[in-house]
Amino acid sequence: MDCNEQNLMLCNYAVYLEFLNEKLNKFFESQKPYIFCRKGCAKCCKNSQFPYSAIEFRYLLNGALTLDKRIQEKIEANIKELLEKKKNFRGKKFLYDCPFLIDDVCSVYPYRGVICRTFGLMTNTVNQKIKAPFCAFKGLNYSNVLNLRKKTISVRKFKKLNTKLEPLGFNISYKYLTCEDYERTFNIKFGESKPVIDWFEAPPV
Ligand code: SF4
Ligand code: SF4
Repeated sequence: MDCNEQNLMLCNYAVYLEFLNEKLNKFFESQKPYIFCRKGCAKCCKNSQFPYSAIEFRYLLNGALTLDKRIQEKIEANIKELLEKKKNFRGKKFLYDCPFLIDDVCSVYPYRGVICRTFGLMTNTVNQKIKAPFCAFKGLNYSNVLNLRKKTISVRKFKKLNTKLEPLGFNISYKYLTCEDYERTFNIKFGESKPVIDWFEAPPV
């Protein structure tokens, strides 16, 4: 990317993403016995809202524009279909499969947003509790160590795994990872955040 004045913020955001990746890679590495993510498992990319801030969305779009024309056309068709569905939706919360998911694989993997990078880990919540990823309840990440009924770590299951790597929660909430401290450190502004599909109705200026 050409880091001219217009693109400076996106370049700074790319530096932030490098930092974030390094941090998350370490977290995932430390949780290896509990992680069952694999290419083609795309449950976390479906039936949700996918919050994106303005800068994340601009970075995502720039990346999407570098993709093969055929993939771009598939994404455009998905977006068109979703916008149509949304127009006719009368419920409270419009949930959908991410339009960038093609054949159960993320077509924009290097450009995906902050929330997508944290999918699959356990999160620390404000009241010192740990929140398991939703896929734990579908037999995937952490399902081998959680007491799913009580929503706590099962000591019995942990001992049975015979590993020194403890199941841990991390400070990876979307709110925390896009907070002012990071904005100051990396000289970026995340800007307004909304479901990714909403940006196609009103793109960032
Ligand atoms: S951008 Fe990629 S990783 Fe994120 S929800 Fe969409 S398909 Fe999944
Ligand atoms: S986070 Fe869960 S749903 Fe997503 S790829 Fe990993 S195992 Fe599959």
